[in-house]
Amino acid sequence: MTSPATPAVEFRAVTRHFGSVRAVDGVDLTIAEGAFFAMLGPSGSGKTTCLRLISGFEKPTSGQIRIFGQDVSDVPPNRRNVNTVFQDYALFPHMSVRDNVAYGLMVKGVDRKTRLDRAEEMLSLVKLPGYGDRKPGQLSGGQRQRVALARALVNEPRVLLLDEPLGALDLKLREAMQDELKALQKRLGITFVFVTHDQHEALSMADSLAVFSDGKIAQIGTPEEVYARPQSRFVADFVGSSNVLPPDLTRALGGPARWSSLRPEQVRIADQGQGRGIVTSIRYLGAGSRVALRIGEAEVAALVPAGQTVPEQGAEVAIAFDPAALHVMEG
Ligand code: ATP
Repeated sequence: MTSPATPAVEFRAVTRHFGSVRAVDGVDLTIAEGAFFAMLGPSGSGKTTCLRLISGFEKPTSGQIRIFGQDVSDVPPNRRNVNTVFQDYALFPHMSVRDNVAYGLMVKGVDRKTRLDRAEEMLSLVKLPGYGDRKPGQLSGGQRQRVALARALVNEPRVLLLDEPLGALDLKLREAMQDELKALQKRLGITFVFVTHDQHEALSMADSLAVFSDGKIAQIGTPEEVYARPQSRFVADFVGSSNVLPPDLTRALGGPARWSSLRPEQVRIADQGQGRGIVTSIRYLGAGSRVALRIGEAEVAALVPAGQTVPEQGAEVAIAFDPAALHVMEG
């Protein structure tokens, strides 16, 4: 047994090189047991490689990985108590949904009756009772996604790895599945490690997230911390839709001569304020409008909520914000 304080997953100075490519470059990471942890970052930043290092399909070039306190350097994938749900679901097309879900138990030699009962339980858990006889090809994308989830969960992993599991779904279904996945994770208490390049998905689902850039972790923290207090221009740019302001503009707007970030939803269009600029573009977003202003050399966007007056393109207006909203960055 492990104590409750033992993290589910730990990376200590982990690197994974492919020839001259540093896919993962000195990553330190601690994922608490029971967490919903997201790995967020642009394409090629090393997220999937990190996931494969946890599952054991990939080995570190250097550094150490522990799962529930155990160094897993010499532990093969099938002995790690970890399962993966892939973006393409990797279901067997010729097998029924029931047999797909029961597959992991068959491999383990569990008797037929027990494994079919367990498969049925898992199908109920993912809200697909009665779908056992169908083939994967007879299901919608969202239903296939749930079968993939049931197939991983039947093995009772302590850590579930999800590699862009909602990537193939349309927006509406994706949002519904985000809520379902989150609720399921809380109910089961299993540690989820979730890879995505969608910042909204990471912010809305994760308890804690790591932002990847070029094989390194640019920032790690709760969604609130990463969103409201980005440590670098990269994080401010990548997470959400922040204004990233150069030192001279930060200074002109009342801050120190440093790079800063200012969220569009914290900027108001006013008659008077900290700065003035010309409206260069207006984008209607449904719940409001994003109004971009040119102030000196920089562009600053404000989010005007629906129902409030939107200035005209070319108009000269002022921007106002709570000085505390100007977040000064380290890098
Ligand atoms: P995506 O969001 O596109 O899946 P990612 O953040 O998951 O990207 P990785 O798949 O981890 O990124 O890849 C990180 C880097 O390592 C990329 O430059 C990729 O080309 C490289 N890479 C990954 N796997 C291999 C491999 N088997 N051989 C060579 N290079 C690889």
